[in-house]
Amino acid sequence: QAKVLGKNRYYFFDENLNDMLMRRMQLEIDLEKSIAENQLFLVYQPIHCLDTGKRRGLEALLRWKHPTLGLISPAEFIPIAEDTGQIHAIGEWVMRTACAEIKQLQENGMTGSLIAVNVSSKQMEEGFVTIVKEIVEETGLDPTCLELEITESMMQNVDTSMQIIHGLHELGVKIAIDDFGTGYSSFYLLRDLPIDTIKIDKAFIDEIDNEKSLLIVKTMIDIGLNLDLRVVSEGIEHEWQLEALKELDCDLGQGYLFDKPMPIDEWIKK
Ligand code: C2E
Ligand code: MG
Ligand code: MG
Ligand code: MG
Repeated sequence: QAKVLGKNRYYFFDENLNDMLMRRMQLEIDLEKSIAENQLFLVYQPIHCLDTGKRRGLEALLRWKHPTLGLISPAEFIPIAEDTGQIHAIGEWVMRTACAEIKQLQENGMTGSLIAVNVSSKQMEEGFVTIVKEIVEETGLDPTCLELEITESMMQNVDTSMQIIHGLHELGVKIAIDDFGTGYSSFYLLRDLPIDTIKIDKAFIDEIDNEKSLLIVKTMIDIGLNLDLRVVSEGIEHEWQLEALKELDCDLGQGYLFDKPMPIDEWIKK
């Protein structure tokens, strides 16, 4: 077909598109075996108290070590897993592994540390609360140590999601709104749901030297403080960002300035 269209641009474009589709198809197929073949693992990034610098918790971040393509970002494979339905098995694996590994960490002396786990909106279906309950019981983790990070886009299925969040709250599990400020239904969520934490998206922290961004971040922090929520700033890379956030009374933060995400063994050694 490329010959019919002629060479150059169209041919070039087709090639790229073809590569993209081929990669996606390969990932989709290979993802199927990723759990059984132990290719998935978690890394943990600490959440720090900005004033004292102390660690207050860890966020579990998923990694896929593909046998031939190497390390693949969750930003690439989570959307594929969401499309195919594989997110259910993967999400359950993440939850079980994170709870078990944090339990292990607590037994090694890191007491009371909160574990944050990202949850896809696609996982917010009937039966989710039961899954979480079973995993918590199975691993023996104190449910009040577990915080689930959801994004504002979860409101695809409002009624079910709301029921699930209330159910999780009854278990004692905490709820964070991730990437706060990038969605569209935040205030409505904050009003109607038992939310514990908001996480201000990195995009705002990146630009905190810009006057408008600073005012927006300040306003988001004030909303959190007024509603008695924990406020976490994401993606702090520079000292000047940290200083600005302290000035605004943001209590918590995470980012490369403190630590990069690392596997559990390295946290146990620390
Ligand atoms: P997120 O939950 O907002 O996680 C924050 C992302 O920012 C992580 O990327 C983290 O490694 C990165 N990060 C942290 N500090 C810094 C910093 O100072 N600078 C920069 N440039 N980046 C920083 P990661 O691990 O690639 O994850 C990307 C996204 O993939 C996550 O965003 C989350 O939405 C999703 N994700 C990760 N793990 C899971 C999972 O287990 N389940 C689901 N459903 N989604 C996950
Ligand atoms: Mg997160
Ligand atoms: Mg986030
Ligand atoms: Mg983010």
